[in-house]
Amino acid sequence: MTQRIALVTGANRGIGLEVVRQLASEEVTVFLGARDLEKGKGAAKPLQAEGMAVVPCRLDVTKLADIEEVATQIEQDYGRLDILINNAGVLYDTWQTAVAADLSEVRTAFETNTLGPWQVTQGMLPLLKRSEHGRIVNVSSGAGSLTEMSGNTPGYSVSKAALNALTIMLAKNLVDDGILVNAVCPGWVATDMGGSGGRPVEDGAASVLWAVRLDDDGPTGGFFRDGKAIAW
Ligand code: NAP
Repeated sequence: MTQRIALVTGANRGIGLEVVRQLASEEVTVFLGARDLEKGKGAAKPLQAEGMAVVPCRLDVTKLADIEEVATQIEQDYGRLDILINNAGVLYDTWQTAVAADLSEVRTAFETNTLGPWQVTQGMLPLLKRSEHGRIVNVSSGAGSLTEMSGNTPGYSVSKAALNALTIMLAKNLVDDGILVNAVCPGWVATDMGGSGGRPVEDGAASVLWAVRLDDDGPTGGFFRDGKAIAW
């Protein structure tokens, strides 16, 4: 198989960094997106030292200029993108309920968790359309499931529910391009966001990468955890 090219957002720590490590260990060339380039370089260094093809890049998913710059770099270096993992996420707002939510915090969640993946996907689409096996994975959460919805974490939950809706729409738009678009929940994972007690990042990342490894006739427009469909 020809060398595959991937971009992972929010990849300087947590699940994103582990996704980079697992992908790069399969000989994929991985652009490691980080909103702070120095943090991205620091995260990439040990992987590069192991011989992995990891390229740190400045990518704040809320900034169009960053998205354009990364797309230009990938275009110049490789001419296409095979795998986009929209992983960056913020604001697990356990301190709020829907009735009393600070809507400025809800807006922040939407900017990163919904509009971020949307505009990164738009920016990368010309490159993804040149792939023969394009994959887009939106890292969502069971908190965004309408079926499971609680009254808590309103900014996070509603922004992830909207990301799920976007996943279905993009999948339908891109079916003729052969690009599979799925939402995945990594499960409760022990990261800065998840806190202690969750499962190891290796398991969360594996749940994400299942959607990368799908065959061309695999599902699109679905919502999965550990390779099993879960309720919207
Ligand atoms: P994390 O450890 O808090 O990492 C979040 C990453 O997103 C960091 O690299 C952060 O960068 C980056 N980020 C935040 N805002 C960004 C922006 N505007 N542009 C680019 N990067 C940005 O969280 P995690 O647990 O690994 O979460 C990864 C994904 O999994 C998220 O989408 C999250 O919602 C989802 N998820 C996590 C769990 C869990 O239990 N952990 C459960 C379900 C879903 P900085 O270092 O610069 O802040």
